[in-house]
Order: sequence, then structure tokens, then C-alpha cells
Amino acid sequence: MQGICLLGATGSIGQSTLEIIAQHPDKFNLVCASAHSSVDKMADICQRFKPNRVVMGTLEARDELARKCQGLDISFEWGEDALADIAADDDVDQVMAAIMGFAGLKPTLSGIRAKKRILLANKESLVTAGQLFMDEVAHHDVLLLPIDSEHNAIFQSLPQHAQGAHKKHVEKLLLTASGGPFRSWSLEEMRHVTPEQACKHPNWSMGQKISIDSASLMNKGLELIEACWLFGVTPAEVDVVVHPESIVHSMASYVDGTVIAQMGNPDMKIPIAYGMTWPERITTAVPALDLVSVAQLNFEAPDLERFPNLQLASDAWYAGGTAMATLNAANEVSVAAFLEKKIGFLDIATINRAVLNQLDRHAVTSLEVVFEADHLARQATANIINKKGWL
Ligand code: NAD
Ligand code: MG
Repeated sequence: MQGICLLGATGSIGQSTLEIIAQHPDKFNLVCASAHSSVDKMADICQRFKPNRVVMGTLEARDELARKCQGLDISFEWGEDALADIAADDDVDQVMAAIMGFAGLKPTLSGIRAKKRILLANKESLVTAGQLFMDEVAHHDVLLLPIDSEHNAIFQSLPQHAQGAHKKHVEKLLLTASGGPFRSWSLEEMRHVTPEQACKHPNWSMGQKISIDSASLMNKGLELIEACWLFGVTPAEVDVVVHPESIVHSMASYVDGTVIAQMGNPDMKIPIAYGMTWPERITTAVPALDLVSVAQLNFEAPDLERFPNLQLASDAWYAGGTAMATLNAANEVSVAAFLEKKIGFLDIATINRAVLNQLDRHAVTSLEVVFEADHLARQATANIINKKGWL
């Protein structure tokens, strides 16, 4: 029986993880869970799964939840310290890191330091803290399993236990991208898109922020950096391939001309279950892939002119140090501004570039350096957004 700490239980990844736990009550037990402010959703989770400890983002949300769950034997907590604490709880074996954005970094690191199996959905924590994150994983000899579907696919396409050593035989990683809802739109058409249009992903159902990132290709940019840290490669060794059907989830290309791909219907329960049971597999209730009805798989090169965020991510990687935390923070703030209709869709990449160019980079020598870079970039981005009438 594996004890699970689910960080971000009320989100899209959180809900899919709960489905897997519910399907396999003999294997998994929800021990701890967190959410930021969705009290009603968390109350349902408490009734259904009866975890030992639950953490909310604020005292008010904690109190409201406790009122709604009277009679249940659960410890209701709140705030950042409690969040880090549940990731290190004695009864937890695996931490599902499924908080949205930079806020996921501290609790994920806490799980790493407590030697839990880390199921990493929260790509922003690895993108921003990079080397420091991977050093902690190595230092504590922790099993880090990528949940992001592309990285999970690459992990499955590499020889087992090959992280690092795989470079001997692998020439390239092929990172697939759906291209998002605006794959074939002109720049002029993209200028006027609404948050509702941008959130409508053709193949995946996801949280708002990652849906916007998928539409702007920043998600692929973050995933490029994520792949570099996870698999010890550089952007030059990763080819992004646009594949609108989202059936091939990514590939490894070997020196002898072999390409190994992982395929499946686009449903996050597959990589989640794989991470939770690796090296075993379990059922997920995802329908089997019917290639005859899929009929066609298409591939094309990404268009960096219409989707400059992908180039920005590569630039940030080569700039090194805090550049990746800077880009990530700029993007989190500009995506939020787009969702609030303060800026247009194309302004996201323009603002991201301005902030990346404006701020100095520093070597990531400590977590404090990462937090400082995140803070300065948020400020700089807000200043740019507030200064000019963008719309
Ligand atoms: P979501 O917006 O649906 O859910 C986010 C969760 O994080 C919620 O439970 C929310 O309460 C919590 N949260 C938000 N802000 C928080 C804060 N400041 N402090 C604490 N908790 C906070 O997001 P999602 O789509 O489930 O994505 C979660 C993470 O997984 C992201 O990093 C995303 O990039 C990654 N991811 C998601 C998918 C997907 O299919 N949804 C796929 C790959 C990777
Ligand atoms: Mg992905």
C-alpha cells in the first residue's frame, strides 16, 4: 500500500490522480492533500478519500473547509509551511507534485529532502530551480518520475535506469507538441483571440494556465527546459515536432537510426499511473488506442515566428542561471494578465522577451537566488503591463 501526498488535489492532474487512487484502493491510500482555495471540491475529496491531513492556501479557506467537514477525523491546516510539511509526512511514500506554477517549488523540494518518490507534473519547479533541483534529487537518492506526458514518454522510450547513461546511444530526443488551438492561424488572427478560445485545447483537458501556455507554445518551451534537466541534454539535442493528433507523446532517436516512441490516447491517467507504479503497470480505464480509427498521424516543424516563446525558452536555457526563473515568472504574470483581459494573446511573448532581456542573470547558488529572480521578474512584468495600454 502506497501512501500518497497529492499537492494540487483540486486541479486537473489532481482529479486524474484521484481517479487512479479510486480505481486501485488496494494499492494506494490518499494520506495528505492540498488545494489553494477550492473549498467545495476539497470537501468532496475529504468525504470520499478521508485523508489524514489537508492543507489549504489561506486560514479562511481552512476554516470554511473544517466547518464543511465536521465529524471527519482530518487535520485541517493552511499555509506554505504546512504544505512543505505534508510532503514530508511519515505516512507518505509518494508525492504527486501537481500545484500550478512556481508555488510548487518549495513543497516539491520538501518531498525530495524527505526521500519520497516524486511524481513531477509541476514543470515550473524544475524549470526555475534546474540544477539545484536535480542536485537535491541526486543527493537524496530520490526516484523522480516525470508525469508530463512528453517526458513520461521519453522516459518510457529510453533504456531502463538510463537517465544520464543513455547519451551513449541516444542521439536526439523528439519532443512532440500538439501545436495548440492556433496551430494554423495567422498572426493577424491570433492578435484578437480571447482567453476562452485559447483555453480550448483540441486534444487535452487541462488547467487554465497550462492551456494558455499550450496555445502560445510556452508550454513546449518550458518542456524543452524540463527535458534538458531531466535527461541531461541541451536544446540542440531536442527536436520539437508538431504532431496535431497527440497520439505519439514523444520519442527517443538512437544512433543506429532506431526511433522509439510511446503512444496512447491523450489522457493524463496513463503517465500518472505509470509514475505511481513504475516499474510495474496497472489498468487505467483509458480506452485502448484504436489506430485504425485514428487513421493518420501528421508531423510538422514548429513556426518560431508565430510562436516566439519556444525560442525564448531555448535562449533562456543557454543564458543559464536565473534566466529560466525570470522567463517563467514573466510568463506566469503575463498569462494571468491575458486571462484578466489586460493584454492581448501576442503580448504574452512580447512581454516575456522584454523581461528576459531587461533583467540580469545570476548563477543559481541557492534557493534564495531563485526566489529573488522570481520576485524581480514578477515586479518588472507587472510594471511593463501597467505602464502601457496594451489593448
Ligand atoms: P490546475 O490549475 O487545474 O490545478 C492547479 C492546482 O494547484 C489546484 O489544486 C490549485 O488549488 C493548486 N494551486 C494553484 N495555485 C496555488 C498556489 N499558489 N499555492 C498552492 N496551490 C496552488 O492545473 P493543472 O492543469 O492540474 O496543472 C498542474 C501542474 O501540472 C502544472 O505545473 C502543469 O504545468 C502540470 N501539467 C499539467 C498537465 C495537464 O494535463 N493538466 C499536463 C502536464 C503537466
Ligand atoms: Mg506536456
